[in-house]
Amino acid sequence: MKIKGFECCFCKKSINENQVEPVDISIVFNEDVKKKTGAMQLFYSHFDCLRDRLHKDNRGYLVREDD
Ligand SMILES: [Zn+2]
Repeated sequence: MKIKGFECCFCKKSINENQVEPVDISIVFNEDVKKKTGAMQLFYSHFDCLRDRLHKDNRGYLVREDD
């Protein structure tokens, strides 16, 4: 399946593909590796939108490839 475009899950604006965007945010609910259960959901966002929503203490862990 080819994806036509990406929309940011935080600001709802379109994301132009570049070296760091779209940022893929994957969320795994109730993961149990042994039982192979758990549901995964994937979101896309702008780098800055994700960074701005992280607590300031965690922003340092988010590093762009070009930084
Ligand atoms: Zn955004």
